[in-house]
Amino acid sequence: MDTATAAASVPEADARREAIRVEDLHKSFGNLEVLKGVSLTARQGDVVAIIGGSGSGKSTMLRCINFLETPSSGRIVIGGEEVAMRGDGSPANQKQIERIRTKLAMVFQQFNLWTHRTLLENVIEVPVHVLKVPKSDAVARARQLLERVGLGGKEETYPAYLSGGQQQRAAIARALAVDPSAMLFDEPTSALDPELVGEVLTVIRDLAAEGRTMLLVTHEMKFAREVANHVVYLYQGRIEEQGPPAEVFGNPQSDRLKQFLSSVA
Ligand code: ADP
Ligand code: MG
Repeated sequence: MDTATAAASVPEADARREAIRVEDLHKSFGNLEVLKGVSLTARQGDVVAIIGGSGSGKSTMLRCINFLETPSSGRIVIGGEEVAMRGDGSPANQKQIERIRTKLAMVFQQFNLWTHRTLLENVIEVPVHVLKVPKSDAVARARQLLERVGLGGKEETYPAYLSGGQQQRAAIARALAVDPSAMLFDEPTSALDPELVGEVLTVIRDLAAEGRTMLLVTHEMKFAREVANHVVYLYQGRIEEQGPPAEVFGNPQSDRLKQFLSSVA
């Protein structure tokens, strides 16, 4: 709501609030330098698709943004709040990281649901135990979210009894339950049988259409072109090319990007 007001009083397109800013992010694992200075900004409502070959650093980048990995250096600013880092890139303030993680819900390739919990229990876990939402409120909200992703009636089911597509939709409901300011998707459909990809993309498409801010690592180029307003092509830990989807896909400049696009077509 406050964003709408702010946007109305300051009409420039870039007046939208900054959701995620990454500056000169570096990450090494031992001697292997995986991220070599990546910078990007997502404003509220942006859908940024991140594409690139296997091993180019896409997952590492997403994982650094919510400190599932410790950056080697760089700056990360979430919702205007800079994450305090020590000299070695590790977060200086664990409480700040926990708070920021709840603003940045992540959806993984492998769903990562808690297998010994029902779908409802999966969705209410963080709201109840981390955010201290009253349980009855969390349950009511979880039911709505499961309904929204097409899993009404499955509240008491355990993940193992569901298809991969259903599990991933439940994982998205769980991500939404913390009311995230931005969502990080890491190849959310890569582990799915082809016939289950569409139902998950439909849910993500709806989230994009309602103006959710998201960073989306995907191999689904048609989908990226359709939902993203900005596309970043990562090559060996650097942004090789970026821009609006029509340009990145329709008129790629770099030879590496051209080659990549023809390899995935
Ligand atoms: P992508 O998601 O683009 O396929 P990743 O970010 O997963 O790429 O990996 C980039 C590189 O970093 C790969 O060479 C991978 O082997 C390496 N890597 C990723 N995570 C680790 C880790 N925890 N320890 C050591 N190397 C890693
Ligand atoms: Mg990956």
